[in-house]
Amino acid sequence: MSMDWIAEQMARLGEAGLERSLRVLGTPQGPEICLDGTRLVNFCSNDYLGLASDPRVIRAAQTAAARWGAGAGASRLIAGNLGIFARLEDALARLKGAEACLLFTSGYHANLGVIPALVGKTDAVFSDRLNHASIIDGCRLSRTRISIYEHNDPGHLDRLLSECDSGRKLVVTETLFSMEGDIAPLDDIIETARRHRAMVMVDDAHATGVLGPDGSGALAHLSISPSRVDVVMGTLGKALGSSGAFVCGGGALVRHLVNRARTFIFTTGPAPAAAGAALEALRIASEEPWRRERVVSLSEKLRSFLEEKGIQNGSSPGSPIIPVVVGPAEAAMEACARMLALGVYVQGIRPPTVPEGGSRLRIAVSASHSDEHVDQLLDALEKAVCR
Ligand SMILES: *Cc1c(COP(=O)(O)O)cnc(C)c1O
Repeated sequence: MSMDWIAEQMARLGEAGLERSLRVLGTPQGPEICLDGTRLVNFCSNDYLGLASDPRVIRAAQTAAARWGAGAGASRLIAGNLGIFARLEDALARLKGAEACLLFTSGYHANLGVIPALVGKTDAVFSDRLNHASIIDGCRLSRTRISIYEHNDPGHLDRLLSECDSGRKLVVTETLFSMEGDIAPLDDIIETARRHRAMVMVDDAHATGVLGPDGSGALAHLSISPSRVDVVMGTLGKALGSSGAFVCGGGALVRHLVNRARTFIFTTGPAPAAAGAALEALRIASEEPWRRERVVSLSEKLRSFLEEKGIQNGSSPGSPIIPVVVGPAEAAMEACARMLALGVYVQGIRPPTVPEGGSRLRIAVSASHSDEHVDQLLDALEKAVCR
């Protein structure tokens, strides 16, 4: 009886076409997967470089587990600070051109831990309207005054900063937006924040491994010196094919986070296998630039196809994320079902992941997609979306 409200809520969610449910993969992540027993070409993973099931990355995970064990066994501050974590932090700091780096068990934990460690009740945070849920939740958890600026709008950010005279200020934005595939005007945003003496944090989850030389991320891609940004967050679970996340910045920042970021302090250290996999993925990402070039060329092919068909999409050149916005949630789910029937998996994305009326198919290309996979995608889009 006391749980009846759940069934009622679920029924309402179902009626609104918003209930989500889990589908099961019977294969590793890759360009072709078996989903609930059906073989499909997969265009919705974040495994942009095709490293999640790369044999070398898998072997590195096995080697790390054999050397360091299956689990860290304790939080990093107690007895769980295994040597392999320091090696990975060094490699990531080098990649990002930062003084120091700190691992977190996921990007969600990173954002949830870092933001409240930087701002509190008497401060203010300025957040892009389309920022990821983990940033939104980090802001809320900080109990800071939250100002939302319009997506990628440094002018609006400037006005909001001008109106604010509270203590510390933090500006936070994604670099390559996860659902739009567009790159933030970081130069302007950083400049604006600096004018108002605000700290700047960027979430480089989708750009790490994909953009910039060696896959170092969006700042390098835009020729912005890493020293102009105070905090760079990134994840190991997307292009690097592993699991976990990191925060890069100055040595003082990292020492502060070790003492103040609760999602770092009160949790078990990462899995050694995940750290080993990430180290190998970093090496491959740097030594095999063809993977990034492949992503760029597939992205361009898809973007010009959509343009030809008169389908709007606001993704930036070279972005692995290409949204096809269809509007209502039901339309996105119908398009998704039609694509599935044609053997192509592109997940429909609905509120609350995207704003009301902005439901979409979020297409993600990977270096592991063959020309045949892409032909199949375009053919399915032609039949399922361009009707
Ligand atoms: C995926 C994502 C995260 C969370 O990273 P995980 O490691 O998957 O928890 C954070 N920020 C953005 C922008 C993301 O897309």
